[in-house]
Amino acid sequence: MTNLNLELVQKAITHAKNSKFYKDKFAGIEAGDIKSKEDFEKLPFTDKEDLRSAYPLGLNATSEEKVVRIHSSSGTTGTPVIIPYTRKDVEDWAKMFRRCYETAGITAHDRIHITPGYGLWTAGIGFQLGAELLGAMTIPIGPGFTDKQIKMMIDMKSTVLCATSSYALLLAEEIEKRGVKDKIHLRRGVIGSERWGEKMRNRIANELGVSLFDIYGLTEIYGPGIGINCEQQSAMHMWDDYFYYEIIEPKTGKVLPDGEVGELVITTYLKEGAPLIRYRTHDLTRSIKGECPCGLKFPRIDAIIGRSDDMVKVRGAIIYPSRVDELLAKIDGVSSEYQIMIDHLNGKDILTLFFETALTDEPRKELEKTVETEFKKDIGIRTVIKAVALGELERSEKKTKRVFDNRY
Ligand code: ZN
Repeated sequence: MTNLNLELVQKAITHAKNSKFYKDKFAGIEAGDIKSKEDFEKLPFTDKEDLRSAYPLGLNATSEEKVVRIHSSSGTTGTPVIIPYTRKDVEDWAKMFRRCYETAGITAHDRIHITPGYGLWTAGIGFQLGAELLGAMTIPIGPGFTDKQIKMMIDMKSTVLCATSSYALLLAEEIEKRGVKDKIHLRRGVIGSERWGEKMRNRIANELGVSLFDIYGLTEIYGPGIGINCEQQSAMHMWDDYFYYEIIEPKTGKVLPDGEVGELVITTYLKEGAPLIRYRTHDLTRSIKGECPCGLKFPRIDAIIGRSDDMVKVRGAIIYPSRVDELLAKIDGVSSEYQIMIDHLNGKDILTLFFETALTDEPRKELEKTVETEFKKDIGIRTVIKAVALGELERSEKKTKRVFDNRY
């Protein structure tokens, strides 16, 4: 686990209170009160909903002439969140991003093909500034225009692809379809940290012929580039000289020991424009113990496995969709559509798992038994299993909701 730097945290709190937002939120809290990790862990969390109330510039903790740029996190509903950046914030972000490229073995000799979008959100421009600081040649193409995309990639001999996992997969498929794989010079892929499975990862890596690196970040905390995995494994090194992070139990807010899955919470040490104290990312991960064989001293977290809003605890077992995805993917006859209902009946939590299958009658009953056994073996609790016909579970227009917790 990363060490809390009390001096930096006190400075961050003092500075944060220059903003209207923290002046109100931390009324009665003084930086000098925080003398230990225990004191720090009593501070209230900051959540995205809170930040919306600061719209448009209530988060700004510095004088306005120091602000050189704003970014905005995509609000699916209602008011967006505006994050102001000073020159130093922009430079710090670029330095972290350069470190990401270096960790992925990318150098000034590379040609970096940047497909994430440029604009109000932090994606493209973060990849861009880090690459320029590294001294690599960038191809700032942005998303879309697949024909031009592939032509540029071939003609410019791009060696690094920056993309979301879904866009990387689309490009990989197009390259295969067009039979131009031998004209592609890619050797590395830097992929934004959405949740993505091993299968997809292997397909992208094989079809593009690249090693893949997961980059982590969120607009509220600079943007992408605050952590990345190294050559060794899927865990990501976090640049904890710029921020402090904790893993908490999402329901109680209690800080969890290394190795336990929970929600990532970040406190910025050095951010000038919009410092954030104990910001809830809602990303689920866990701390990885010990030092990495690669030799980097920065601490590590596991790949993001989902959103804390989807995580539930039932009779002591932690359940989140990617864990159930993996479990069900191993069982023949189970389709990818499923739903989990949790109810509290007669003083007991009951978990019911519905899944779709093409099977009927006796084979369907057999399959239910198999799923029940596997669930008990893997996740450790008894469940009620209900198989239904294909197409029977309700689809939602937006993101598929898998877990319905009816206990609260
Ligand atoms: Zn490492």
